[in-house]
Amino acid sequence: MPTVLTDYHLHLRPDEDGTPAERFFTAENVDRYRAAAAAAGIVELGASEHVHRFSQALAVWRHPFWEEQAVDDLDAYCEFVRGAGLKLGIECDFVPGAEERTAELLAARDFDYVIGSVHFVGDEAVDHPGWDVWEGSGDPDDVWARYFEALAACARSGLFDVLAHPDLVKVWGRAHPLPDRDLRRFYEPAVAAIAASGIAVEVSTAGLRKPVGELYPAPAFAAMCVEAGAVFALSSDAHRPSEVGFAYDRAIEFLARLGVGEICVFERRRRRLEPLGAAVGENS
Ligand SMILES: [Zn+2]
Ligand SMILES: [Zn+2]
Repeated sequence: MPTVLTDYHLHLRPDEDGTPAERFFTAENVDRYRAAAAAAGIVELGASEHVHRFSQALAVWRHPFWEEQAVDDLDAYCEFVRGAGLKLGIECDFVPGAEERTAELLAARDFDYVIGSVHFVGDEAVDHPGWDVWEGSGDPDDVWARYFEALAACARSGLFDVLAHPDLVKVWGRAHPLPDRDLRRFYEPAVAAIAASGIAVEVSTAGLRKPVGELYPAPAFAAMCVEAGAVFALSSDAHRPSEVGFAYDRAIEFLARLGVGEICVFERRRRRLEPLGAAVGENS
């Protein structure tokens, strides 16, 4: 059986770039992503723009940050991605209380997969200056507990195929206070929800490009997921072509050490497992 590498969590442009979407939603730009993927041996490639960049997202949540960002048309994006021959995905925040509205937005489009994310706890973000949960009190036990409860609810919602960057709360590393107890206490509710829902857990190399300098999820968290019978999806969360397949040698070694030999492949929201490929190319 042939082996496979995926990069499903791709943004076709940088975050908070004011440049109109049309500048990035072009065949030339997709070719740059495709060339980088080919060089890294990645055969399964898909786009997953942030839901908050589309005006339709305001039917789900009216956070001021979303109101500022939601300018593009979701259906035009879907049409572009399909036409470009990429798998069609989206990175969609889990917004507590907005499950039905989220389900409606997702069901109206023929996505190959939906990546569920938690960036916010309440109205504040764990990874976003300007809406920073770490400003003010920012008690690490409280922030971590709330983050992993939200992640558990995200998994249990049944809205998503993949759970993005599962311990994003650690993104700033030592630049913000960390809980001083065993972090497995925080992972537990999320692992239970992952096991109950069957959602795929994303192994993301994005954390290696962030202050924390680690893969998402942390080894102890990933080991608990394996123990609970979870399956995994592999992505870079690239925001530019040079980040496609970023540090895949690290991710592949990480999965191998966990005893994980298969990764998820998606098509029209159906999932199958295929043998994990080997890293190649200069990005790895
Ligand atoms: Zn994200
Ligand atoms: Zn992302």
